[in-house]
Amino acid sequence: MIDLRLKIDDVPIDHPSIVRLRTDTVESEHDAALIDRDHESQIFDLAGYSLRVYCDPRTDLDGDVLLLVPGRNSAHRLLRAGSRHNTFLVTEQCDQLCVMCSQPPKKYHVDLFDQFTVAATLAPENARITISGGEPLLHKRRLFQFLVAAAKARPDISFHVLTNGQFFEPGDVALIDEIGRDRVLWGIPLYAPHAALHDSIVAKPGAFETLSQNFTTLMRAGAAVELRTVVLHQNWDVLPQIADYVSTRLPFIDVWAIMQLENIGYGRMNWAHSFKDTSLDFGKLRSAINLAIGRGIHTLLYNFPLCTVPPQYRHLAPSTISDWKNKFLEECGECTLRSTCGGFFEWYKADQGFGGLSRQ
Ligand code: SF4
Repeated sequence: MIDLRLKIDDVPIDHPSIVRLRTDTVESEHDAALIDRDHESQIFDLAGYSLRVYCDPRTDLDGDVLLLVPGRNSAHRLLRAGSRHNTFLVTEQCDQLCVMCSQPPKKYHVDLFDQFTVAATLAPENARITISGGEPLLHKRRLFQFLVAAAKARPDISFHVLTNGQFFEPGDVALIDEIGRDRVLWGIPLYAPHAALHDSIVAKPGAFETLSQNFTTLMRAGAAVELRTVVLHQNWDVLPQIADYVSTRLPFIDVWAIMQLENIGYGRMNWAHSFKDTSLDFGKLRSAINLAIGRGIHTLLYNFPLCTVPPQYRHLAPSTISDWKNKFLEECGECTLRSTCGGFFEWYKADQGFGGLSRQ
């Protein structure tokens, strides 16, 4: 697992600040140049002060963007220049309590959108940044300000916004257009083909109805949508009906991502009655995939280790688990699929997981 927090010595700042670490050239007032390294740290010049970052001196930090918070002896590694998996967690508040939530909500919110805007402008060329929560659109005005500003400052970067889709309004169409329709991929979950089940999974009455209306807004906006459905015991029997719903009501989506459960947060708490072992029973999933693909819906499987998927569907299962929270098991060692397999979440527990793993 890659640690996204780096231990640092105290720095004299009085508000959350963004700094980009550079080992060679300095291009911005936010850049801190490497001045020294020893066996346990790398030391950067931060506007005349020393920023000491504890890590293996061989760790390549060039281009990494850190968030420094006053009084904290650790820095958030917001952007890793060498990674495709960079996420800004913009809030931990949420209006839903989904049974599989990997980041259970918290009551309080600290607005760091100004810092995120600076960080985005310092991102590596052509970066794609995931915006996650909590529910980012609970702070929609600030989120859209951030997206507009970042899009203007950096025409090369794009965003993947993970949202429950509850807070779009018809008036957002113009803003989505201003940000750039192809600049943002909206990742939005749908867990069932009808209100009773979807609302019970997300623990919010009326959520399905609101989502249905807001899909219409997104369609009118020409927004790029990645529809996300986590496979659960709760929705296993209706997966083919979800495929039917997607193909008849939401044919404008870019991709339907069918996802395996992550064993953390509420997902861990509810694992025993929510995890569906698709390595032993692929039946309803097979029907749903066949129906969706047959009707022209681009369908993918996220977070499925390749050997849990029948061979004829493995091309639909890209490696999707972020590099910092990804692992492989001992039995994966000699597997011929290892280079294309996404493996497991760091917190995957083999004794509660897939019963049908088999080295290929
Ligand atoms: S054995 Fe491991 S590397 Fe091979 S397909 Fe299964 S999970 Fe992936």
